[in-house]
Amino acid sequence: MNPPSPPRRSPDDQARARQAAVNARRERAHVKVALAHGEVSFFSALWDPKPSIQRMKVHELLKAVPGVGAIRADAIMERAGISFSRRIGGLGKHQLAALRKELSLSKIDSPKGALVVMSGPGGVGKSTITSALRADPRFWISISATTRAPRHNEKDGVDYFFLTEENFDRMVAAGEFLEWATFAGARYGTPKAPIESWRELGKHVLLEIEIEGARQVRLADPSALMVFISPPSWEELAARLQQRGTDTPERQAARLALAEAEMAAANEFDHNLVNHQVEQVLEQLVSLATAH
Ligand code: 5GP
Repeated sequence: MNPPSPPRRSPDDQARARQAAVNARRERAHVKVALAHGEVSFFSALWDPKPSIQRMKVHELLKAVPGVGAIRADAIMERAGISFSRRIGGLGKHQLAALRKELSLSKIDSPKGALVVMSGPGGVGKSTITSALRADPRFWISISATTRAPRHNEKDGVDYFFLTEENFDRMVAAGEFLEWATFAGARYGTPKAPIESWRELGKHVLLEIEIEGARQVRLADPSALMVFISPPSWEELAARLQQRGTDTPERQAARLALAEAEMAAANEFDHNLVNHQVEQVLEQLVSLATAH
Protein backbone atom coordinates (compact mmCIF):
# COMPACT_ATOMS: atom_id res chain seq x y z
CA MET A 1 0.00 0.00 0.00
CA ASN A 2 1.25 3.52 -0.77
CA PRO A 3 1.85 5.84 2.19
CA PRO A 4 -0.83 8.53 2.52
CA SER A 5 0.07 11.56 0.42
CA PRO A 6 -0.10 15.08 1.87
CA PRO A 7 -3.28 17.01 1.08
CA ARG A 8 -2.96 18.73 -2.28
CA ARG A 9 -3.11 22.50 -2.27
CA SER A 10 -5.55 24.18 -4.61
CA PRO A 11 -4.03 26.15 -7.53
CA ASP A 12 -5.21 29.34 -5.78
CA ASP A 13 -3.37 28.44 -2.59
CA GLN A 14 -0.28 27.56 -4.60
CA ALA A 15 -0.38 30.90 -6.40
CA ARG A 16 -0.79 32.73 -3.09
CA ALA A 17 2.15 30.87 -1.56
CA ARG A 18 4.31 31.68 -4.61
CA GLN A 19 3.38 35.36 -4.37
CA ALA A 20 4.14 35.40 -0.63
CA ALA A 21 7.57 33.87 -1.32
CA VAL A 22 8.28 36.51 -3.98
CA ASN A 23 7.23 39.30 -1.56
CA ALA A 24 9.40 37.87 1.22
CA ARG A 25 12.45 37.69 -1.09
CA ARG A 26 11.82 41.27 -2.18
CA GLU A 27 11.58 42.48 1.43
CA ARG A 28 14.81 40.71 2.36
CA ALA A 29 16.65 42.11 -0.66
CA HIS A 30 15.38 45.59 0.20
CA VAL A 31 16.77 45.42 3.76
CA LYS A 32 20.14 44.16 2.53
CA VAL A 33 20.44 47.00 0.02
CA ALA A 34 19.45 49.58 2.67
CA LEU A 35 22.09 48.09 4.98
CA ALA A 36 24.77 48.12 2.30
CA HIS A 37 23.99 51.79 1.55
CA GLY A 38 24.22 52.70 5.23
CA GLU A 39 20.53 53.72 5.35
CA VAL A 40 19.81 51.35 8.22
CA SER A 41 22.12 49.84 10.83
CA PHE A 42 22.55 46.11 11.41
CA PHE A 43 20.81 46.38 14.77
CA SER A 44 17.82 48.36 13.51
CA ALA A 45 17.44 45.83 10.66
CA LEU A 46 17.31 43.04 13.28
CA TRP A 47 14.26 44.71 14.81
CA ASP A 48 12.29 44.89 11.55
CA PRO A 49 9.14 43.03 12.64
CA LYS A 50 8.15 41.75 9.19
CA PRO A 51 7.92 37.93 9.25
CA SER A 52 10.12 37.76 6.12
CA ILE A 53 12.93 39.53 8.00
CA GLN A 54 12.43 37.69 11.28
CA ARG A 55 12.77 34.39 9.38
CA MET A 56 15.95 35.49 7.60
CA LYS A 57 19.24 33.90 8.71
CA VAL A 58 21.41 36.16 10.90
CA HIS A 59 24.42 35.21 8.80
CA GLU A 60 22.73 36.42 5.61
CA LEU A 61 22.09 39.84 7.12
CA LEU A 62 25.51 40.08 8.73
CA LYS A 63 27.21 39.44 5.38
CA ALA A 64 25.48 42.52 3.97
CA VAL A 65 26.95 44.86 6.60
CA PRO A 66 29.44 47.21 4.90
CA GLY A 67 32.98 46.05 5.68
CA VAL A 68 31.92 42.60 6.95
CA GLY A 69 31.35 40.25 3.99
CA ALA A 70 31.18 36.44 4.03
CA ILE A 71 34.52 35.59 5.66
CA ARG A 72 34.29 38.05 8.54
CA ALA A 73 30.62 37.11 9.01
CA ASP A 74 31.68 33.46 9.54
CA ALA A 75 34.27 34.50 12.13
CA ILE A 76 31.87 36.81 13.97
CA MET A 77 29.18 34.10 14.16
CA GLU A 78 31.69 31.59 15.46
CA ARG A 79 33.13 33.91 18.11
CA ALA A 80 29.63 34.94 19.21
CA GLY A 81 28.69 31.24 19.48
CA ILE A 82 25.73 31.55 17.12
CA SER A 83 24.88 28.70 14.78
CA PHE A 84 24.91 29.47 11.07
CA SER A 85 21.31 28.37 10.71
CA ARG A 86 20.04 30.75 13.45
CA ARG A 87 17.26 33.02 12.24
CA ILE A 88 16.89 36.66 13.30
CA GLY A 89 13.67 36.03 15.22
CA GLY A 90 15.36 33.24 17.18
CA LEU A 91 18.23 35.33 18.58
CA GLY A 92 18.39 35.28 22.37
CA LYS A 93 19.47 38.11 24.64
CA HIS A 94 22.97 36.70 25.19
CA GLN A 95 23.49 36.12 21.50
CA LEU A 96 22.48 39.72 20.78
CA ALA A 97 24.91 40.92 23.42
CA ALA A 98 27.67 38.77 21.92
CA LEU A 99 26.95 40.17 18.45
CA ARG A 100 27.04 43.68 19.79
CA LYS A 101 30.38 43.03 21.40
CA GLU A 102 31.75 41.53 18.21
CA LEU A 103 30.62 44.52 16.21
CA SER A 104 32.24 46.76 18.86
CA LEU A 105 29.04 48.67 19.40
CA SER A 106 29.15 48.15 23.11
CA LYS A 107 30.52 50.95 25.26
CA ILE A 108 31.39 49.33 28.56
CA ASP A 109 30.10 51.10 31.65
CA SER A 110 28.20 53.79 29.76
CA PRO A 111 25.22 54.98 31.85
CA LYS A 112 21.80 53.86 30.68
CA GLY A 113 20.15 56.29 28.26
CA ALA A 114 16.86 58.11 28.92
CA LEU A 115 13.53 57.33 27.31
CA VAL A 116 12.36 60.65 25.82
CA VAL A 117 8.79 61.03 24.58
CA MET A 118 8.17 64.04 22.37
CA SER A 119 4.66 65.13 21.39
CA GLY A 120 3.01 68.28 20.18
CA PRO A 121 0.51 69.55 17.64
CA GLY A 122 0.98 68.91 13.93
CA GLY A 123 2.95 71.72 12.29
CA VAL A 124 4.94 72.63 15.41
CA GLY A 125 8.26 71.37 13.96
CA LYS A 126 8.66 67.94 15.61
CA SER A 127 10.04 66.30 12.49
CA THR A 128 12.73 68.99 12.09
CA ILE A 129 13.78 68.35 15.69
CA THR A 130 13.78 64.58 15.12
CA SER A 131 15.89 64.88 11.96
CA ALA A 132 18.47 66.94 13.81
CA LEU A 133 18.66 64.41 16.66
CA ARG A 134 19.04 61.57 14.14
CA ALA A 135 22.49 62.97 13.40
CA ASP A 136 23.37 63.14 17.13
CA PRO A 137 25.25 59.98 18.22
CA ARG A 138 23.90 60.34 21.77
CA PHE A 139 20.39 59.60 20.52
CA TRP A 140 18.62 56.72 18.85
CA ILE A 141 15.31 57.57 17.17
CA SER A 142 12.69 54.87 17.58
CA ILE A 143 11.30 53.57 14.29
CA SER A 144 7.55 53.19 14.57
CA ALA A 145 5.40 50.64 12.80
CA THR A 146 2.43 51.98 10.86
CA THR A 147 -0.35 50.77 8.63
CA ARG A 148 -0.41 53.97 6.59
CA ALA A 149 1.08 54.00 3.09
CA PRO A 150 4.60 55.41 2.64
CA ARG A 151 4.89 58.96 1.31
CA HIS A 152 7.03 59.40 -1.79
CA ASN A 153 10.17 60.37 0.16
CA GLU A 154 9.83 57.74 2.90
CA LYS A 155 11.79 54.50 3.20
CA ASP A 156 10.63 51.29 4.83
CA GLY A 157 12.76 50.46 7.86
CA VAL A 158 14.11 54.03 8.01
CA ASP A 159 11.15 56.37 8.49
CA TYR A 160 8.70 53.68 9.56
CA PHE A 161 8.19 49.95 9.32
CA PHE A 162 5.28 49.95 6.89
CA LEU A 163 3.13 46.98 7.89
CA THR A 164 -0.01 45.34 6.58
CA GLU A 165 -3.03 45.39 8.90
CA GLU A 166 -2.38 41.68 9.51
CA ASN A 167 1.22 42.15 10.61
CA PHE A 168 0.20 45.05 12.83
CA ASP A 169 -2.55 42.86 14.41
CA ARG A 170 0.01 40.14 15.02
CA MET A 171 2.33 42.52 16.88
CA VAL A 172 -0.56 43.85 18.98
CA ALA A 173 -1.64 40.30 19.88
CA ALA A 174 1.94 39.31 20.77
CA GLY A 175 2.32 42.35 23.08
CA GLU A 176 5.24 43.64 21.01
CA PHE A 177 4.27 47.33 21.24
CA LEU A 178 5.18 49.64 24.08
CA GLU A 179 2.18 51.69 22.93
CA TRP A 180 0.01 52.02 19.87
CA ALA A 181 -2.78 54.33 18.73
CA THR A 182 -4.95 55.21 15.77
CA PHE A 183 -4.31 58.57 14.14
CA ALA A 184 -6.03 59.96 11.03
CA GLY A 185 -7.32 56.54 10.02
CA ALA A 186 -4.06 54.57 10.36
CA ARG A 187 -2.46 52.72 13.25
CA TYR A 188 0.95 53.63 14.67
CA GLY A 189 2.95 51.75 17.30
CA THR A 190 6.34 51.77 19.02
CA PRO A 191 8.09 48.35 18.91
CA LYS A 192 9.14 47.57 22.46
CA ALA A 193 12.18 45.33 21.95
CA PRO A 194 14.83 47.73 20.57
CA ILE A 195 14.24 50.40 23.21
CA GLU A 196 15.86 48.59 26.14
CA SER A 197 18.80 47.44 24.03
CA TRP A 198 19.66 50.94 22.89
CA ARG A 199 19.19 52.39 26.37
CA GLU A 200 21.52 49.72 27.75
CA LEU A 201 24.07 50.86 25.19
CA GLY A 202 23.83 54.34 26.70
CA LYS A 203 21.73 55.96 23.96
CA HIS A 204 18.84 58.29 24.74
CA VAL A 205 15.86 56.83 22.91
CA LEU A 206 13.49 59.38 21.36
CA LEU A 207 9.87 58.55 20.56
CA GLU A 208 8.07 61.11 18.42
CA ILE A 209 4.46 60.07 18.92
CA GLU A 210 0.97 61.49 19.30
CA ILE A 211 -0.73 62.22 22.63
CA GLU A 212 -2.67 58.99 23.17
CA GLY A 213 0.49 56.92 22.72
CA ALA A 214 2.44 59.29 25.00
CA ARG A 215 -0.12 58.66 27.78
CA GLN A 216 0.38 54.90 27.38
CA VAL A 217 4.18 55.24 27.63
CA ARG A 218 3.86 57.28 30.80
CA LEU A 219 1.77 54.46 32.34
CA ALA A 220 4.13 51.73 31.11
CA ASP A 221 7.30 53.56 32.23
CA PRO A 222 6.77 56.39 34.73
CA SER A 223 10.46 57.28 34.47
CA ALA A 224 10.06 58.37 30.82
CA LEU A 225 10.91 62.01 30.14
CA MET A 226 7.75 63.56 28.73
CA VAL A 227 8.35 66.61 26.54
CA PHE A 228 5.72 68.69 24.78
CA ILE A 229 6.65 71.04 21.94
CA SER A 230 4.50 74.19 21.69
CA PRO A 231 4.33 76.86 19.00
CA PRO A 232 5.29 80.46 19.91
CA SER A 233 1.60 81.35 19.53
CA TRP A 234 -1.64 79.77 18.41
CA GLU A 235 -1.84 82.25 15.49
CA GLU A 236 1.58 81.18 14.25
CA LEU A 237 0.63 77.49 14.34
CA ALA A 238 -2.69 78.16 12.59
CA ALA A 239 -0.86 80.12 9.87
CA ARG A 240 1.66 77.27 9.41
CA LEU A 241 -1.08 74.68 9.16
CA GLN A 242 -2.97 76.79 6.64
CA GLN A 243 0.11 77.15 4.45
CA ARG A 244 0.59 73.39 4.27
CA GLY A 245 0.03 71.75 0.90
CA THR A 246 -3.12 71.99 -1.11
CA ASP A 247 -5.66 71.05 1.55
CA THR A 248 -9.36 71.66 1.04
CA PRO A 249 -10.98 74.11 3.52
CA GLU A 250 -12.59 71.08 5.27
CA ARG A 251 -9.21 69.39 5.76
CA GLN A 252 -7.66 72.61 7.00
CA ALA A 253 -10.48 73.00 9.53
CA ALA A 254 -9.96 69.38 10.65
CA ARG A 255 -6.20 69.97 11.08
CA LEU A 256 -6.88 73.08 13.18
CA ALA A 257 -9.40 71.27 15.36
CA LEU A 258 -6.96 68.41 15.91
CA ALA A 259 -4.12 70.82 16.76
CA GLU A 260 -6.38 72.56 19.29
CA ALA A 261 -7.18 69.25 20.99
CA GLU A 262 -3.46 68.34 20.99
CA MET A 263 -2.52 71.70 22.54
CA ALA A 264 -4.94 71.04 25.38
CA ALA A 265 -2.81 68.07 26.49
CA ALA A 266 0.35 70.17 27.04
CA ASN A 267 -0.01 70.27 30.83
CA GLU A 268 0.12 66.46 31.03
CA PHE A 269 3.83 66.62 30.13
CA ASP A 270 6.88 67.16 32.40
CA HIS A 271 8.30 69.88 30.18
CA ASN A 272 6.79 72.28 27.70
CA LEU A 273 9.37 73.64 25.23
CA VAL A 274 8.32 76.55 23.03
CA ASN A 275 9.71 76.23 19.54
CA HIS A 276 10.92 79.79 18.91
CA GLN A 277 14.11 78.41 17.39
CA VAL A 278 14.93 74.78 16.61
CA GLU A 279 18.54 75.09 17.85
CA GLN A 280 17.31 76.27 21.23
CA VAL A 281 14.82 73.39 21.57
CA LEU A 282 17.56 70.92 20.62
CA GLU A 283 19.86 72.28 23.29
CA GLN A 284 17.11 72.05 25.91
CA LEU A 285 16.23 68.50 24.88
CA VAL A 286 19.82 67.32 25.07
CA SER A 287 20.36 68.83 28.51
CA LEU A 288 17.06 67.41 29.82
CA ALA A 289 17.91 63.92 28.56
CA THR A 290 21.46 64.07 29.92
CA ALA A 291 20.31 65.28 33.35
CA HIS A 292 17.45 62.79 33.57
P1 5GP B 1 2.68 60.88 10.16
O1 5GP B 1 1.71 59.97 9.49
O2 5GP B 1 2.46 62.33 9.76
O3 5GP B 1 4.10 60.45 9.98
O4 5GP B 1 2.39 60.82 11.74
C1 5GP B 1 1.13 61.11 12.23
C2 5GP B 1 1.17 61.17 13.74
O5 5GP B 1 1.48 59.87 14.26
C3 5GP B 1 2.20 62.12 14.32
O6 5GP B 1 1.58 62.88 15.35
C4 5GP B 1 3.26 61.21 14.90
O7 5GP B 1 3.88 61.81 16.04
C5 5GP B 1 2.41 60.03 15.31
N1 5GP B 1 3.18 58.78 15.45
C6 5GP B 1 4.24 58.34 14.72
N2 5GP B 1 4.67 57.17 15.17
C7 5GP B 1 3.89 56.84 16.23
C8 5GP B 1 3.86 55.74 17.15
O8 5GP B 1 4.66 54.81 17.10
N3 5GP B 1 2.90 55.76 18.09
C9 5GP B 1 2.00 56.77 18.22
N4 5GP B 1 1.12 56.70 19.20
N5 5GP B 1 2.00 57.82 17.39
C10 5GP B 1 2.94 57.86 16.41
